[in-house]
Amino acid sequence: MSVRTRADLEQLPPYVAGRTVPGSIKLASNEVSEGPLPSAVAAINEAATEVHRYPDMGVTALTEALATHYDVAPEQVAVGCGSVALCEQLVQATCTAEDEVVFPWRSFEAYPIITQVVGAQQVKVPLTGEHALDLAAMLAAITPATRLVFVCTPNNPTGTLVRRAELNAFLDRVPGDVLVVLDEAYFEFVDDPEAPDGVEITRVRDNVVSMRTFSKAYGLAGLRAGYAIGPVRVVEALRKVSIPFSVNALAQTAAIASLQAQDELRRRCSDVVAERTRVHRELIAMGYEVPETQANFVWLPLGERTAAFNEHCLENRVVVRAFAGEGARVTIGQPDENDAFLAAAKSFG
Ligand SMILES: *Cc1c(COP(=O)(O)O)cnc(C)c1O
Repeated sequence: MSVRTRADLEQLPPYVAGRTVPGSIKLASNEVSEGPLPSAVAAINEAATEVHRYPDMGVTALTEALATHYDVAPEQVAVGCGSVALCEQLVQATCTAEDEVVFPWRSFEAYPIITQVVGAQQVKVPLTGEHALDLAAMLAAITPATRLVFVCTPNNPTGTLVRRAELNAFLDRVPGDVLVVLDEAYFEFVDDPEAPDGVEITRVRDNVVSMRTFSKAYGLAGLRAGYAIGPVRVVEALRKVSIPFSVNALAQTAAIASLQAQDELRRRCSDVVAERTRVHRELIAMGYEVPETQANFVWLPLGERTAAFNEHCLENRVVVRAFAGEGARVTIGQPDENDAFLAAAKSFG
């Protein structure tokens, strides 16, 4: 006899992480190649001798630092074991089996997994022909059973941005009892003047929450710290479904130190943005279709050629993130890493 597990999990696709191939350049997981901010490393070293103690369960100091940084009340801030954990907590906090979660597709791989694990219904709304979120179609997909809508901007894996005016027009029409989750994991890389700022939106709407992370621009993916900013009622619900002590001590310490290093963060983000512009321009010059991107990656909608492109990059010691039959997502790395990728792209026949 074997252990009985939930039958519906048989159908669940596993989360495919970007591959790490020793000796190769990894441009597969949207990490910042430059590493953590130096002040964060110093803080981690210092805190290392204290890890026999449980972390602060209430994540008090980091929550207060975030509240000060964004000029919101600490009651409006929740920290999680990565923002992906907070995404799951939000679905848990809003949905039971009959309820629906609306999200764009293709988008962040975790959305369908989270929704199914929690046991809610998924409603996937295809992207537009320009690889952007189709907010009109997402609005049309909302039914009385909808409890939560994910809006991923910039969208992973396509890099496309939702503009402020279209987002506000959308939010004006979403029923007030439906939670809209603005997943802004790449917010720090955005430089479009028409970009929305999710935290500002949460000041004027009580059904919107903004999700950000220390994993991407801040370079702390390995430590797992993300946060949500939103209405007190939503944040309270988030806290109720969190796993005790899931934000570890080193993550809390490193996040606080990182938050205090804004100048360094800005410098590194503008370096990434400059490289993003260069990589995008060169790919277009080679004849590739590449949607405009506001994140730290580019999307190549190669369709059936994706698998061959992936193989070709691997042969050239560059690991990209391929979605078979759809396209490849390539993270912007350091200039020499990007050069290696561009050389591979150029020699792809
Ligand atoms: C990377 C990413 C996240 C979350 O990352 P964490 O490491 O869990 O904080 C969330 N949303 C999107 C769209 C991402 O790409």
